[in-house]
Amino acid sequence: MPEAASYRKVDLHTHSTCSDGRLSPTELVDLAVEQKVSLFALTDHDSLDGISEARARAAEHNLSFIYGVELSTQWNGIPLHMVALNFEPDNKAILSLVRGNQAIRLDRARRIANLLVKQGLPDLFDEAVELAGDSQLGRPHFATLLVEKGYVKDTNKAFDRYLGNKKLGQLRDVWPELEDVLSSLSDQGAELILAHPKRYPLTVTKLKRLLGDFKKWGGTGMEIVSGNERPDSVRLLERLSREFDLKASVGSDYHGPFGPWMQVGKFTQIHESEVDLVWQSWK
Ligand code: AMP
Ligand code: MN
Ligand code: MN
Ligand code: MN
Repeated sequence: MPEAASYRKVDLHTHSTCSDGRLSPTELVDLAVEQKVSLFALTDHDSLDGISEARARAAEHNLSFIYGVELSTQWNGIPLHMVALNFEPDNKAILSLVRGNQAIRLDRARRIANLLVKQGLPDLFDEAVELAGDSQLGRPHFATLLVEKGYVKDTNKAFDRYLGNKKLGQLRDVWPELEDVLSSLSDQGAELILAHPKRYPLTVTKLKRLLGDFKKWGGTGMEIVSGNERPDSVRLLERLSREFDLKASVGSDYHGPFGPWMQVGKFTQIHESEVDLVWQSWK
């Protein structure tokens, strides 16, 4: 009997060194294969740079590879992540959003450095840019520097004390509006997935409002599990995906062997039969 699509080991949310992950695209694909993943997407933050390397490596292993990217957006002033999946490599609308967000990242890093200076820290901008190199400059680079320089004991503390969304409250209105991002992509044939819906500072009532907007503006799906989520959160997200007619996506959000991330291909169990799995509509 052929293996049903729904029983494949799937991971549609992962990061490489092209954004803030620790493994190169090749190492990440090798790990996915080792973990017996059979359908895989690389979804770096605001970058498509790792895709050709990952795709080539996946082809060597016969691993089904899906184009992906995790785009930074905002909704009502709250930074939100959206995973776009299954688009063509030369998709101009996605490329344009990616380029726009890369420019924003540089400008935002300057502003983050200034806010840290106001709190008595040295100006870390140049070092953050250097540390980022070809990867996507972001808060993790500032966190690494704060740890290296002994201002905090680990990156978690760096986010708690200096870099969390509350601490960087002045940095509102940084990212493109969710409505604009979705409307510019809604006719592109890509899956537009709300990433890790339980990780935002939203009550269930507000989350429902977000899901209503997401669907109305052209979103096609939502993650019902992202890594090591509480089973009751996954149940809630399964229900919401049915209620808002959004397809269910899954991913580990793997960033590397260190830190709180789950292994590639690993996440809290879902009830596959109760949701409309996003990959079941793919060839
Ligand atoms: P940015 O893209 O610059 O906004 O940075 C966000 C990234 O920082 C997320 O994608 C995570 O990988 C990472 N991150 C967020 N919160 C934490 C935390 N508490 N500890 C370590 N890394 C975090
Ligand atoms: Mn990240
Ligand atoms: Mn994210
Ligand atoms: Mn992610």
